[in-house]
Amino acid sequence: MSDTIFAPATAPGRAALAVVRLSGPKAGEALKALAGRLPAARRASVRPLRWQGEVLDEAMVLWMPGPASYTGEDCAELSLHGGPAVVEAVIEALAGLGLRLAEPGEFTRRAFQNGKLDLAQAEAVADLIDAETQEQAKQALAQLGGGLSRRYDGWREILVEALAVLEAAVDFPDEDLPEDVAARARPALERLACEIDSALADEARGRRVREGYRVALIGAPNAGKSSLLNALAGRDAAIVTATPGTTRDVIEVPLVLAGYKLLLADTAGVREAAEEIEAEGVRRARAWAAEADRRLWVVDAAASDGQWRHALELVRPGDFCLLNKGDLPAGDDGSAAGAEAEARGLRVILTSLKVAGSAAVMEALTEDVVAALSASEFPAATRIRHAERLRVARARLASALENAGQVELAAEDVRLAARALAQVTGRVDPEDVLDRVFSTFCIGK
Ligand code: GDP
Repeated sequence: MSDTIFAPATAPGRAALAVVRLSGPKAGEALKALAGRLPAARRASVRPLRWQGEVLDEAMVLWMPGPASYTGEDCAELSLHGGPAVVEAVIEALAGLGLRLAEPGEFTRRAFQNGKLDLAQAEAVADLIDAETQEQAKQALAQLGGGLSRRYDGWREILVEALAVLEAAVDFPDEDLPEDVAARARPALERLACEIDSALADEARGRRVREGYRVALIGAPNAGKSSLLNALAGRDAAIVTATPGTTRDVIEVPLVLAGYKLLLADTAGVREAAEEIEAEGVRRARAWAAEADRRLWVVDAAASDGQWRHALELVRPGDFCLLNKGDLPAGDDGSAAGAEAEARGLRVILTSLKVAGSAAVMEALTEDVVAALSASEFPAATRIRHAERLRVARARLASALENAGQVELAAEDVRLAARALAQVTGRVDPEDVLDRVFSTFCIGK
């Protein structure tokens, strides 16, 4: 039998309320010890909490006997007045009653272990707590509601059915089964392979909603990248100076557009670096830019020094080219870079950050992030862990289709593919995987 745990579920500090929750076989006993008697199940009641002759607080208490509770165990919740002294006194009393302070994520882990949530749903609880934007919260809620689990369970079911067909062929090789019994499993497996391929092609979307859509600002030094970042971020996040080569490292700035989180990176100006530290900055800038979802290439349209060319190898079709400093007399670089950008399928924006600010860029980025991340179907992965399992399943599926002639091998591949998918919802995971998932939670959840 598990021990009984407790933890503050609200953030520490002074607040109107603080919630302390309890879970485990001794939760009822502990609640009775503090509140005098057990309140009716699932009914809020106001009670004085007493411990060793002292009144600790006048609290609202909830008694939620298992299994109809968050963890599936007997649970209680105490809504206390939010002063640190009150919370501390209640915590001391609970410890004095022999209860243990919970580890991070331990309530949700118990919910998982008692079948209240699967692993993908438990991850969604952590995502919901971490959500900073509405779209992050929406995605986490949909995942909590089973949005991700249903896809994987559906795929797994197809594999389990195919496995039954293949195993029939393995178990009765000499029976009078039609020769092509294994071939009967093939169409479903092929359809599933296609479906997983398109899911994998879309694999980054869910993660980008969760972690942020990555936009790299690139371009020659002095083009206006830091000015743009600051204008977008609405504060002086990067240092703007008139000396080329000031931004040596990659500065990431989170930004919220249309409910989506974006990570903007101001990268070191891409040019032939004069010295070692700057060269390292340029290397990091290139690496970040290569992995970004979108590059925003800033060009000084008033210059005529040809510096814009250094960023050219980094841009891809669909990226943005910002021809900046339109308030100054045009140099040669603006038209040269603009022509090159159009030829490469970039979207060109003419502006002057100094005069017009970043509104045009903001509008373009908003449209871009919405187009990239919004879709009606729940993404196939919101973490690298999901994408990895999906890739394993896809590889096993490919192997099964190749091995179709050797039914035993094909059956083993299908079994392993099903296992990889089951790992996403966590029914077959070893303890260390669970440790890793739940250790990222906060205490009290
Ligand atoms: P970075 O090196 O690409 O990050 O460029 P900065 O943002 O530091 O800008 C370099 C210089 O160009 C600064 O002195 C800015 O004030 C100036 N600058 C940026 N945008 C404009 C613009 O639209 N017009 C003019 N005239 N100057 C600008």
